[in-house]
Amino acid sequence: MVSKKKVVVITGGAGFLGSHLCDRFIREGFKVICVDNLITGNLNNVRTLLKDRNFDYVKCNVSKDIRIPGTIHYVLHFASPASPVDYLMYPIPTLKVGSRGTHNSLGLAKDKKATFLLASTSEVYGDPLQHPQKETYWGNVNPIGPRGVYDEAKRFAEAMTMAYHRSHHMDTKIVRIFNTYGPRMRIRDGRVVPNFIDQALHSRPLTVYGNGRQTRSFCYYSDLIDGIYRLLFSGYHGPVNIGNPKEFTILEFAKLVVKLADTKSKIVYEPLPVDDPKQRRPDISLARKLLKWEPKVALEDGLMETIAWFEAQAKKRTS
Ligand code: UDP
Repeated sequence: MVSKKKVVVITGGAGFLGSHLCDRFIREGFKVICVDNLITGNLNNVRTLLKDRNFDYVKCNVSKDIRIPGTIHYVLHFASPASPVDYLMYPIPTLKVGSRGTHNSLGLAKDKKATFLLASTSEVYGDPLQHPQKETYWGNVNPIGPRGVYDEAKRFAEAMTMAYHRSHHMDTKIVRIFNTYGPRMRIRDGRVVPNFIDQALHSRPLTVYGNGRQTRSFCYYSDLIDGIYRLLFSGYHGPVNIGNPKEFTILEFAKLVVKLADTKSKIVYEPLPVDDPKQRRPDISLARKLLKWEPKVALEDGLMETIAWFEAQAKKRTS
């Protein structure tokens, strides 16, 4: 019997956000095809799904080619290194997956007459001169700086997505994701949340870069996944910010991690990375209006869950 289930392809499906999307779509009754080359993804993130008959894993570098037989209804393009440390380690694969990988994923969606959703980023705003950032802001990106490999790849990916929408009349969506955290972040991915939690759990000093006055706004993964799910089924084609508008300085954030992890860790200061954005906070008026969405999880609650998850992972490694 042919399955009546809708089929969703998720590139980067073994990564932090991709794997949570896989979980959500399986729960919602879809058939999920997870595509990943595992350079920053990890099969452990989808280990429990591998037994599910509605879940398939395809090892593939989407920057080269994606061939998937059969009907596909949705293509979600999440493949990319996503932490500054990762994309500095993989600058050319990052540029390729944003350009060729997006082109190939759009081609797959076009061929299958599927809806396409691009995982874009607040990094398209660069070091923003408008605050908070609205979707209408064009950004302030240094194209030749070390972060440019990610920022420009995602800006190109947005341009390509809009071109396919306009030229091929495809149903496309673009989510601009702001700093998101939660279980399944890699402990060594270099981002501030895993770094601080790892340092706190081992009573090592927390490494604040610069003077710690730069700001970020942290969204728990479950809120983000819900926003993306709503966006996919909306009729809107322009970019939509999904993130938590509550803004913290990195120093405040470090102090909160020290308190919640109940550690004696001190704070030390290290040099600020090149082109590190000084401020970041999403304006989510559009998501509120269009998707009836706003984040629900407070930073303290999300952080407690994330700390507990990292603690459990550390125990597994030592047992
Ligand atoms: N950061 C920090 N200490 C760390 C890691 C990051 O102070 O150990 C700072 C970083 O300089 C930036 C902010 O935390 O200002 C968020 O960095 P992250 O790498 O998480 O992502 P970004 O928002 O810069 O993409």
